[in-house]
Amino acid sequence: MDAEITTMPCRDCGAAVSGLNGRYACGLCGRVNHWSEGSNKLPTAEDSADA
Ligand SMILES: [Zn+2]
Repeated sequence: MDAEITTMPCRDCGAAVSGLNGRYACGLCGRVNHWSEGSNKLPTAEDSADA
């Protein structure tokens, strides 16, 4: 699984926060973005099922 660390401004306070695969948690205001904003799709049952 790829791990991509990104830095982006917090939407609430504007502080630069680092995140993994598009997910991040702000250390200043505590904002955590939703998983759906990440760059990776969530694994699905089909991904783990034997084809
Ligand atoms: Zn913040």
